[in-house]
Amino acid sequence: MNYAMREREGVSSDYHKYTSLKACKAFVFDMDGTLILGKLPAPCSAELVTYLREKGFKTIVVTNNSSVSNADHALILSEILGIPFNENDIYSSLDHIGKYLMFNWKNATIFPLLTQKAKAYLAKKYGLKFTDKNPDLILVGFDKELTYDKLEKATLYVQQGIPWILAHPDYRCPTEKGYIPDAGSIAKLIELTTNTSPFFVGGKPSSDFLIGIANILGFDIGEICFVGDRLYTDIAMTLNSGAHPILLLSGETSERDLKSSDIFDNKRIAVFRDPCHLLNHLREIF
Ligand SMILES: [Mg+2]
Repeated sequence: MNYAMREREGVSSDYHKYTSLKACKAFVFDMDGTLILGKLPAPCSAELVTYLREKGFKTIVVTNNSSVSNADHALILSEILGIPFNENDIYSSLDHIGKYLMFNWKNATIFPLLTQKAKAYLAKKYGLKFTDKNPDLILVGFDKELTYDKLEKATLYVQQGIPWILAHPDYRCPTEKGYIPDAGSIAKLIELTTNTSPFFVGGKPSSDFLIGIANILGFDIGEICFVGDRLYTDIAMTLNSGAHPILLLSGETSERDLKSSDIFDNKRIAVFRDPCHLLNHLREIF
């Protein structure tokens, strides 16, 4: 495919940079808006992951969604894309938070604003200990089982000086029916009530999130390519971490959004129309 063809397909050649992608040894994918669009696969996303796996690249899918376990995310991806994923193919904000707490707050007791599934995952995988009474710490996530009683307890604990952390900053989660309140919006209720902010925020766009994944995969951050659809989370995190950002224009960000953003001229960002377009390019270089 030549530049003229790309022009006709709506992605201009002037910002289409990709020589840096030759450094990729592992591909990290955002999930929603990148590999899947709601309950549908993004075009060529299954073929893209399959191609990279067959070529021997490490692939991993990340999500900020802290409401379910990695096994649940893997099941959803397998069903939608029609190719196998297991829990080791996923890394979520719960893993970022779990690792952070395991190393920095060992044996702390935690008052959770989390779903039962999230609590069970963190307890089993990272040994976190949860309590309703006299916690050392409060952890707020995408609690789809939130009650006023939990919110009231959390805000009273914060006013007693108990520190709190947030699994990920997303204000809203897209669904087929529209947006629903996410962890960031739940945190806002606590912030507005207590005039206190979380001292640690996990997930995207924290560059530590991606650096942690590079460590787990055993690669330098400069060997990681991150494929995402949001400028202010996926691309910002990747630029800050030192990994190679790949932006797909098939999710949240339109070509117009990109052109009006302050990172439009950033030569480090490789831009593709959708996963098919990226796959075609990767077939040319790998
Ligand atoms: Mg996304």
